[in-house]
This record gives sequence, C-alpha cells and structure tokens, in this order.
Amino acid sequence: MKVSIIGGGESGVWAAILAKEKGCEVFLSDSASISEERKDLLNKSKIEFEEGKHSMEILEASHVIVKSPGIPNESVVIKELKSRRKRVVGEIEFAFDFFDGRIIGVTGSNGKSTVSSLIHHCMTMAGLPVGLGGNIGESFSSVIAWGKKYTWMVLELSSFQLEDIDQFRPDIAIQLNITADHLDRYEGSIEKYAAAKFRLHMNQKENDILIYNEDNDMLKYACALCVANKSAVPFWDAKTMLKDKFEIEPHQLKIQGEHNVFNALISGIACEKAGLEKEKIKQGLLSFEAIPHRLESVVVRNGIEYINDSKGTNVDAVRFAFSAMKNPTIWIVGGVDKGNDYSMLDQDVKEKVKAFVFLGTDNQKLINYFGDTGKPWKEANSMREAIESAESFAEVGDVILLSPACASFDLFKNYIDRGNQFKELLT
Ligand code: ADP
Repeated sequence: MKVSIIGGGESGVWAAILAKEKGCEVFLSDSASISEERKDLLNKSKIEFEEGKHSMEILEASHVIVKSPGIPNESVVIKELKSRRKRVVGEIEFAFDFFDGRIIGVTGSNGKSTVSSLIHHCMTMAGLPVGLGGNIGESFSSVIAWGKKYTWMVLELSSFQLEDIDQFRPDIAIQLNITADHLDRYEGSIEKYAAAKFRLHMNQKENDILIYNEDNDMLKYACALCVANKSAVPFWDAKTMLKDKFEIEPHQLKIQGEHNVFNALISGIACEKAGLEKEKIKQGLLSFEAIPHRLESVVVRNGIEYINDSKGTNVDAVRFAFSAMKNPTIWIVGGVDKGNDYSMLDQDVKEKVKAFVFLGTDNQKLINYFGDTGKPWKEANSMREAIESAESFAEVGDVILLSPACASFDLFKNYIDRGNQFKELLT
C-alpha cells in the first residue's frame, strides 16, 4: 500500500515511520522546511521525503493520505486530493487501526491537557501500563511504532484532530465543554466548531462510555443523542459529587479554581469507569500538581505573587483563572485575538482586576474594550516590558496574572515560549 504523509512535524514523521514499519511504501511531503532532527529520523528509517513543495503526481498515486492537524481541509493540496477521491485521514485515525489497547479520548475547549494528564497520573499511580498522547505527550503513532504495550492510551484531542477521524472510536469519551475558541478556523461559527468536537463520540456503540459536562447546554443536547452508556457530570455542583464519590474537599486538591474541582471529578469518574479502585483514584487526585502554564504559581517576590496561566488562550479559560484569584490582580492580557467577546469578563474585571497590561503587537481591541473602565493600563511589546509595567502597578498582597485570552504567535513561538519567558524573567 502506498501512503503519503502531508506535514513533517512530530505526528507526521511518526505516522511515516509507523507506516514504513507496517510494510507500506511511504512518502512524506511538507510545503515548508523540515527540522534537521526529523530529517535524520526519516533518513534512518529510509523514508523518502520532500520539503518546500508538494509533488502532486506522487501524492495522487497514494492509496491513503495522512495529514497533519495543522493543515486545514480547505487548503489547496487537500481540496485537490479530496476532489480526486483520495482517502485523507489524520494521524489519530491512521494509528488507531494498529492499536489493540483501550482508549480514553478527551476533548473540550478548555481543560483537555489537565484532565488527560490527571487520568494518566491516576492510572500510572495505580500501576497500570498507560500512555498519554495526541495533543500532549507522545504521538499516538510513535507509541505503536515503538511497540509499547499500553493497555490504556489517554488521548487529548483537539477539534482539528477530530475533523480528520473516520472510524476512530474511544472506549471512553470525555466531553469537557464547548465555548467559543478557534472560531477563526470555523468561519466564526460555533456550531461548526462544536460539530468537530462531537465527532469524538460519533462512532461509539452501546458498550462504550460517554462522560460529559451536563451544565454545558450544547453538550447536554448533543450527548443525549449518543447510544453509548452515558454519565452526566455537573460542573457547578462538582464539589458535592467530589465529596460524595471520592471523599475529597476542594481545598485538599493541589490544583485550584472551580474548573479544577470539575476536572478532578470528571477524571475520577473516567478512572472509575476504567476499573480503578476508589482508594487508588483518591490517591491520584490528591497528589496531582498543576501542569506548567496552567495557573502555575511561579514565585512570591516582595509580597507579590506571579502566576503563569499562559495556556489561558481564550476568554472562558481566563474566566476560570479569575475564579481562583483571591487578591487584587494585575492582568497581563493580549496576543492574537481569536474573535474574543470580552463582555463575559465584565464582572470579574470589575471585582478582581486592579490594572491591565496589554501585551501584543496590536492592542487596539483591548484598549477599546478595557481602556475606559477607570482602571489604569499600559501597553507592552515584550515579556520583560510586561512584567515591569505590571510591577509598576503592584503593591504587597497583589497578584500578577499572565492569562492572555489570546494566542501567542505575534510575539512568541507558542504559549510555552510565552510562559517560559515569564518564568525565566522571574527566577
Ligand atoms: P486545554 O488543553 O483544553 O487548552 P488546559 O488543561 O491546558 O486546557 O487548561 C487551559 C486553561 O483553561 C487553564 O489555564 C484554565 O484557565 C482553563 N480551564 C482548565 N480546565 C477548565 C474547565 N474544565 N473549564 C473551563 N476552563 C478550564
């Protein structure tokens, strides 16, 4: 079988290696350049590749095309291949065919990494052979290519990855929430974005399990239609259920904020469905610490606490970051706006924000919205400037919160680079 891979990033290169191992004739094509490290991997595996172009005659001669999630279905090359009735799938779909363990798939606008890591943590602590992959951890294809014998694989799945599945079917699907995010890639339509998310459970059967947030209206109605064995989890009253089920009070958790009470509960329920004993689940939930760039307390200096929530890349995430803020907050916000509606934050801004620092190359939308609230603000063009500006407003007992509500690509490589710069300047 001839398999072509489009995109030479982490998932593309490992899909190529997996295909080669399975005896396919493999070709990888990337319209940009491929890193030296990845080219080495491809050469070692004797995989042909090209960069800086797409040779359509080779791609068209393939039986299957595996595309990276970063490449939109509307791109010229994908449209052309689809018009020629080529089978185009994502890396998750491709790897799924070769995996014989069980799968927990996690999606949502916010909380995917936390919940996937939390489930993985609880299962690992309980001694199960479990992998963590998809948008986080190892690529799914690499797990199979390396021959790792996981009985469970926890996959964090973005809407982009779900757009490219076909037969993929998780044993346990988790739908965390749907709120406006990435609408720039869905023509401003939340329905189109939600439809991509619902694909997570579209192939589930009666014996599969679907766990969802029952306080999210879009999810409540969509999940009710699924034939799987359903488990509805309350968001706003997660505290009560966490106590009843696992005998845990929110303050005992190492992760803070009301969203994390829900994250702990839904992760615990997923582990329970996967067969873990309650006591083991409890131990896992209680020992889990915040993953980097999610409400990560970096340092307390001169009586001011600095919190890195660089992964707060949309308005809803910031709303929950504010829910964990107990002290006057100087809010560093900005970057590449994804169609944000800031009115959701009006109340929090009124109650919690003391001053703003707008960090981005184009801050006009933020200035228009927050500039007249009567609270002071400054603009910054680098992380160093942002911290200095924030400190100019700060007094003992205040918090400086980096929770940008925006993507990072104007000034940083990605949210990790943004969060790391914040941390490095402080430590
Ligand atoms: P994702 O992987 O979906 O981007 P993360 O677990 O990395 O989500 O968390 C990103 C941010 O989203 C966190 O910093 C927090 O502010 C917010 N968040 C986390 N969990 C939830 C949740 N269950 N509901 C709403 N917001 C959340």
